[in-house]
Amino acid sequence: MKGIISVSGGLDSTALLGFLFEQTNVTELIGVSFSYGSKHNKYENKACLRVMRYYDMPLIQMDLETAFSAFKSDLLLSGGCIPEGHYQSNNMKSTVVPARNMIFISILTGLAISKEFDFVAIGVHSGDHYIYPDGRPKFLSKIQDTVKWCSEGNIFLTAPFQFLTKGEIIKKVVNNKKRVPFELTRTCYKDQEIACGKCGSCIERKEAFEQNNLTDPIKYEE
Ligand SMILES: [Zn+2]
Repeated sequence: MKGIISVSGGLDSTALLGFLFEQTNVTELIGVSFSYGSKHNKYENKACLRVMRYYDMPLIQMDLETAFSAFKSDLLLSGGCIPEGHYQSNNMKSTVVPARNMIFISILTGLAISKEFDFVAIGVHSGDHYIYPDGRPKFLSKIQDTVKWCSEGNIFLTAPFQFLTKGEIIKKVVNNKKRVPFELTRTCYKDQEIACGKCGSCIERKEAFEQNNLTDPIKYEE
């Protein structure tokens, strides 16, 4: 089976690649990364290229900056400051990018139909449910149907981590035959090279490693 995968250079989508490459029926994967004007896009993109090199797989870089330029979100360069605190707290809602998953899935599906691939995949996890309406199981089951109908039954959408926490994602892939390169990934939401360690995204990541009694291999700001 051949798949088109949404990749960001983050931990979840990198673990998703690791998970898919372990499946014996997966023969070919193409990564698609999206630039949409977020504060961390330029750092994510660097991480994404490192991860693609590690897995020796092709990457399609999709520029959506114009499309997202009038969207309201503090995650975007056009928005306010990134709040600090826990990922699943109310103030993190300001970082939600409206309909982002729906838009990404639509583009992945169009590519999969064009290339006659079999599936599209995204690394959504249960920590996303609280603030992202288009990361919730109800949304995902509907859009799984939509992808199927849109492709005349030829393509399916998989989101294998949708019921897992970030900690459980690490646990799932940490003993893969080909090691998942967590040290190459980028998670922080802020517009800075070194991860801040204080935004919701950083805190969730650090907790996920702690839950597995592992040390996060990336550097954090003092
Ligand atoms: Zn951060």
